[in-house]
Amino acid sequence: RAAAARSARTPDRLRSPIVCILGHVDTGKTKILDKIRKTNVQDGEAGGITQQIGATFFPLDAVKRETSKLAAGRALSHDIPALLIIDTPGHESFTNLRSRGSSLCDIAILVVDIMHGLEPQTMESIQLLKQRKTPFIVALNKVDRLYDWKAKPMTPVIDALPAQKKHVQDEFKRRLEETKVAFAEVGFNSEVYWDNDDVRSHVSLVPTSAISGEGIPDLLYLLVSLTQKLMSDRLMWTSHLECTLLEVKVIEGLGTTIDVILTGGTLKEGDTIVVCGLDGAIVTTVRALLTPHPMKEMRVKGQYVRHASIEAAQGIKISADGLDRAVAGTQLLITEDGGSEEELDLLRVEVMKDFATILTAVDRSGVGVYVQASTLGSLEALLAFLESSEIPVAGLNIGPVHKKDIVKTSTMIERKKKEYATVLAFDVPVEKEARELAEELDVRIFTADIIYHLFDQFTAYMDDIRGQRRDAASDDVVFPSICRIIPQMVFNKKNPIVMGVDVVEGILRVQTPLVVKLPTGAWLDIGRVASIELAKKPVQTAKRGESVAIKVVCKNESLMFGRHFDGSQPLVSKMSRKAIDILKANFRDDLGKDDWRLVVKLKGMFAIE
Ligand code: GDP
Repeated sequence: RAAAARSARTPDRLRSPIVCILGHVDTGKTKILDKIRKTNVQDGEAGGITQQIGATFFPLDAVKRETSKLAAGRALSHDIPALLIIDTPGHESFTNLRSRGSSLCDIAILVVDIMHGLEPQTMESIQLLKQRKTPFIVALNKVDRLYDWKAKPMTPVIDALPAQKKHVQDEFKRRLEETKVAFAEVGFNSEVYWDNDDVRSHVSLVPTSAISGEGIPDLLYLLVSLTQKLMSDRLMWTSHLECTLLEVKVIEGLGTTIDVILTGGTLKEGDTIVVCGLDGAIVTTVRALLTPHPMKEMRVKGQYVRHASIEAAQGIKISADGLDRAVAGTQLLITEDGGSEEELDLLRVEVMKDFATILTAVDRSGVGVYVQASTLGSLEALLAFLESSEIPVAGLNIGPVHKKDIVKTSTMIERKKKEYATVLAFDVPVEKEARELAEELDVRIFTADIIYHLFDQFTAYMDDIRGQRRDAASDDVVFPSICRIIPQMVFNKKNPIVMGVDVVEGILRVQTPLVVKLPTGAWLDIGRVASIELAKKPVQTAKRGESVAIKVVCKNESLMFGRHFDGSQPLVSKMSRKAIDILKANFRDDLGKDDWRLVVKLKGMFAIE
């Protein structure tokens, strides 16, 4: 099939590149998209910019008009027919534009607020772009917020910036340098685009204002020149179908439809299509290929234009039967040799592969959190983040959180892993019944539409649980220690015994039961450490090398220093199996390497299995 695809490529014809916009909330993604769409309208020309399903079609004539304001733009050769700019900004649409783990987004605009620098979701976006190896340019937005900026509406920023006062230019330079340092810290060289001599190794930064429009021509110029320069091979038009499901939507009068982005080949009415479904592959026939009506103002409800066939690259709504359980973020396939059962079987397997790949993320031990997302793409992104933060996943699902998801999650409580009795729900609704059941079964549900918010919630919860456990275990835990009694510093020989000791090994902690080895080889219980004083100040623990005064409360009232034991043998923490388990489960980080070695030694001394 790869060979067929290659032979079907048309070298002298390129398709429109797909452009996505990503970045932290409130950086101006929506505003930039608006500004791009309205570009020519403001210039008094319609410009042929049209709305498609999920995308805006930006013809090269319109780009030319804008970029002609730039010296470099005038020399730009135009081989691509248009830019296809995805309308919904953010991770969701970016992650859904995927096919077999690689991105169908050809180039991304990462929006950074010049006043704020790189923010948490910027980092998330960068990680996604890295994962999918998607080239991107940076819109360094809100330059108009620089103090004293004089607006030059819709002017190339390369001209607008030198026209500013010196202190404005200085502040710009300072913030530009800060941004470059921040990008370097996450592994990217970057340079303001007019100084960028190597676009392959350096990310281009474009200062923009989505309010007054400075930099918008520059942004369009870069999108066109970079896609043509870097990816003419990738953009070569091919008759081989490449199509991805962006959204599954119920439309009045049409039933469940799918919104797709066609990046390769041609779709026709009557085509037999195969898509990934929650309960297995769906095979159906295209009833109608729809795009929005061009005259938006006259739009009557449900009015779409029907097409007999549509060529890439385009955003299209497909109406067909049986699409209710289709999974967004997966590829759409069509039959090529007439749809024999044999071919259909192959396509069914192929289309479900995405799902199969995702299932490998589930931890084989069966212990971990339950994750749920709206689409395969977002689920994939979420799983990648969980993996990088070493949070195990025991189960996953796509779509709203139902009761059965809660039941599955609750098994973690039986397995004594309460912290994992947690559903991380990314951008999906939780059914009322599911919420009630979760309450009843003590299952936690965290919902968010920003990945890092889910992490914040989950990590805070983990810390909280750990704290509670430590508190509960605090009476039973035994820290390993060996102390030498200083005989001339025994201030009280009988209960409570008060004496000076040197901590020879480990950590001496309040509450620790201490024992001493008798000449017979038996262990004598001395009592529990009630308090510790270091340089006359009470402390909870004393480290190896410290000399402290301790008070030990003895169970045996008649026990006496000098009679039943003396300073010839050290005081040792009385270890037990249970104490070791508690140490491991809740106090792992409190002990150093040497302390753990001492635990092993004590295990041997007390003959613990
Ligand atoms: P999004 O969350 O990234 O889509 O951000 P929006 O496009 O919704 O913008 C967030 C806020 O920032 C809105 O109040 C915008 O008006 C404002 N904003 C966006 N771009 C600019 C800009 O270039 N300059 C200024 N001053 N404000 C902007």
